[in-house]
Amino acid sequence: MNMSRARERLVVVGGDAAGMSAASQARRLRGPDELEIVAFERGHFTSYSACGIPYWVGGDVSERDRLIARTPEEHRARDIDLRLRTEVTELDPDGQRVRARDLESGEESWTSYDRLVIATGARPIRPDMPGADAAGVHGVQTLDDGQALLDTLEGTRGRRAVVVGAGYIGVEMAEALIKRGYEVTVVNRGSEPMSTLDPDMGRLVHEAMEGLGITMVNDAEVTKILTGEDGAVRAVVTEDREFPADVVVLGIGVRPETALAKAAGLPLGSHGGLLTDRSMRVRGHEDIWSGGDCVEVLDLVSGQERHVPLGTHANKHGQVIGTNVGGGYATFPGVVGTAVSKVCDLEIARTGLREKDAHRVGLRFEAVTIESTSRAGYYPNASAMTVKMLAEHRTGRLLGVQIVGREGAGKRVDIAAVALTAGMTVEQMTALDLGYAPPFSPVWDPVLVAARKAAAKVRGSV
Ligand SMILES: Cc1cc2nc3c(=O)[nH]c(=O)nc-3n(C[C@H](O)[C@H](O)[C@H](O)COP(=O)(O)OP(=O)(O)OC[C@H]3O[C@@H](n4cnc5c(N)ncnc54)[C@H](O)[C@@H]3O)c2cc1C
Repeated sequence: MNMSRARERLVVVGGDAAGMSAASQARRLRGPDELEIVAFERGHFTSYSACGIPYWVGGDVSERDRLIARTPEEHRARDIDLRLRTEVTELDPDGQRVRARDLESGEESWTSYDRLVIATGARPIRPDMPGADAAGVHGVQTLDDGQALLDTLEGTRGRRAVVVGAGYIGVEMAEALIKRGYEVTVVNRGSEPMSTLDPDMGRLVHEAMEGLGITMVNDAEVTKILTGEDGAVRAVVTEDREFPADVVVLGIGVRPETALAKAAGLPLGSHGGLLTDRSMRVRGHEDIWSGGDCVEVLDLVSGQERHVPLGTHANKHGQVIGTNVGGGYATFPGVVGTAVSKVCDLEIARTGLREKDAHRVGLRFEAVTIESTSRAGYYPNASAMTVKMLAEHRTGRLLGVQIVGREGAGKRVDIAAVALTAGMTVEQMTALDLGYAPPFSPVWDPVLVAARKAAAKVRGSV
């Protein structure tokens, strides 16, 4: 501890999910007389839900401020010295200090710390091509991005939108734009949308998107974005086609925002994220912690480190860090890779390994796919649901599940997430005591139908 100060100082870099969860939890455990908390955030907002941006843009959420879980004033009322529009420009682990620049005045100064939390999140990938920064081309990473997109949508007369990228953000933004009355084309580098699924399941998403009136273009690399005389976007160009566009949304993924950590010599993994131990302490650094989109996490199924930039993990990381910094004890064991999203009424969910993940880590597996329904077949509004399940060859250990369907499909994946976490076999899953009544599922829930088929395949009886 720095002896020149009577109380310890915690410095947090990044004021969203991971950073402010850590600060809030530390404050819950240690009062202001024991712990001073200084949080730096370069943007205008704190504790906001980027996850809600597609629903705000699409009109399901009426206003931006509904996406803010805790305002700067609320944090300050809890004795957190929050410095907005202040960017940390250098980390000095040896000197236990950070350098920050006030983005309004340009002034720079050093702040010393006893404990540091790095929660700088992720940086969206911007394509390096002509026109990528043209007016009308938008990312959707922050609330400011969402507002800029809404301003463009309100200011353009044309109704043609192109979404570049067909991951979950791309498909959610396709829905948002459809809802706003746009003709939507999604241009995707992969063979099918939602590369977090196997291509056979991605195919179902593709077909459903086309059914919703979205034009899906796969295996297409965007090479440039054309602009008009006014400098605004006019079209998106691939190797062999041109797609007219009045607005373009980029959803081509993110990378950990770890440039400062790298410059400071902190340990990074092969995906560019900070490496931490189970308590979210940066490896080899007693007084530095990190969580959220800027770290790599342990995949409990493959046993390898991965970059999984999801809010669900960022909040848990923040809680763990705040508990440890506040004098308690908590750990983050790792992830099984659960994610859920939707495009209009189509729900898309996955957990665990895809076929290519299992191949990559050298696991032999059996894969089954079943068709079932969301409710008893005779009950009104039963809708089709496809479940794909992977089980390890011979042992029958559950490796992964993907589900595509309509109402009730998405959150069914949580059954599989729990089974994966518990290390269950598909045989054990067949006996799970899941709730049943005709409005909620067939008497054999679709997940159980898939488990039965997978168990039979593992036994060699299929
Ligand atoms: C459109 C969209 C939809 C999403 N939907 C979902 C979903 O449905 N489910 C889900 O689980 N996740 C979803 N996510 C992901 C989720 O939003 C992120 O995983 C989560 O916000 C990560 O939190 P974080 O605190 O690690 O990083 P961030 O939220 O990125 O926050 C990092 C903060 O650090 C600040 N910062 C960075 N560098 C500095 C610096 N040098 N100095 C000062 N401040 C700095 C940034 O301004 C930022 O505010 C979505 C993301 C997007 C963009």
